[in-house]
Amino acid sequence: MKLGRNRVWLVTLAIILLSPGGYRTLAEPDAPFTILLSNDDGFDSPGLQALVEALAPVARVVVAAPATEQSGSGHGITYREPIFFHQIKLSAGVSGYAIQARPATCVRVGVESLLESKPDLVISGINRGPNLGIVTFYSGTVGAARQGALLGIPAIAVSMQGDDPDDLATAASFIWQLVRHLRAQHVLRPGLLLNVNVPAGNQHGVRVVRQSIAPDRESYERRTSPRGAEYLWSRWTPPADQDEMTDVGAFAQNFITITPLRIDQTDARELDSLGKLELEELVPISRDAATREGFARGKN
Ligand code: MN
Repeated sequence: MKLGRNRVWLVTLAIILLSPGGYRTLAEPDAPFTILLSNDDGFDSPGLQALVEALAPVARVVVAAPATEQSGSGHGITYREPIFFHQIKLSAGVSGYAIQARPATCVRVGVESLLESKPDLVISGINRGPNLGIVTFYSGTVGAARQGALLGIPAIAVSMQGDDPDDLATAASFIWQLVRHLRAQHVLRPGLLLNVNVPAGNQHGVRVVRQSIAPDRESYERRTSPRGAEYLWSRWTPPADQDEMTDVGAFAQNFITITPLRIDQTDARELDSLGKLELEELVPISRDAATREGFARGKN
């Protein structure tokens, strides 16, 4: 059967008008607001499910998440192997893709290949366990969000202490409120990257704070396998920071933390002082020339 152009428009209009609630809560004006959800715990994780349930009634939600857990993969990418994917059905009528790839790649293939159009927002999470301070470098949750920002899409990484279902539902509804607020204030600019961490239980409030640079600690216990092979077993201690104006410090005081992260990693101060060293005067020379000048004999 072939529908006339007018019939198609009528049917489309009817679908929009009859859809319960529609996409209107986050949509201003009536254009659908599309959110790409990803994570690093895998597409079937309860944190991602909590976001689906909170956001599906108010936005068009599409999932592009790793088929298996990819925690701690940072901004790792998948590119020297086939990227298998299959379409999945989640609750609330939301479908998406389970992708055999690192989290950052899941977002990239979602945006570049699997979705019909560029999403308005990327949300990664809700991760099982916080991603604070320098842990953002290890975090696949943040890696997935950062990839969204690199593609010019505003992005939010969300992590939570523990995985209690009630806590996850609370955190997800907080994210919905946050997105609605940021959207109303026109803060969801291309490339915006927010790192949000939610403590378990009752929170004291919300703090916008900078990223802590306090170090973590890792020690390696030397062990022997049942077959006699030596191996190292990692023991990790997360960073601690007394400064409540940092994400680590505020989170320890039970605040929800929001930290805007930069894509530009340039160290402006070092750029300035290196610039004064006239390094541009250094001209690459051959090894022979270097030997003649005595560098190879350690005379410099
Ligand atoms: Mn994880």
